[in-house]
Amino acid sequence: MTEAVLKSVREVCGVEDCQGVYERREVAHLLQHEGQTVIVDRVPLLVCPICGHRQLGPQTLRRIETAIRTADGPTAWVPVYGYKSWL
Ligand SMILES: [Zn+2]
Repeated sequence: MTEAVLKSVREVCGVEDCQGVYERREVAHLLQHEGQTVIVDRVPLLVCPICGHRQLGPQTLRRIETAIRTADGPTAWVPVYGYKSWL
């Protein structure tokens, strides 16, 4: 099967009882790396438009690790706030 044929195959969401079909998108992906929370921007992955479940392939995960290891540092810093449940 060629790559073009593989890309045309509809992939149904893996979450139980969800009927969504994954869409290929580039998104900001948040993950843990060496004990720190980091965001990698423009990661190509599959996203369910109904429940939001994301699916990353092993090759994409390896590329994310390589991108973090070989980068000169983050391209941006983001503020993080704690959720205040008493408000
Ligand atoms: Zn879903």
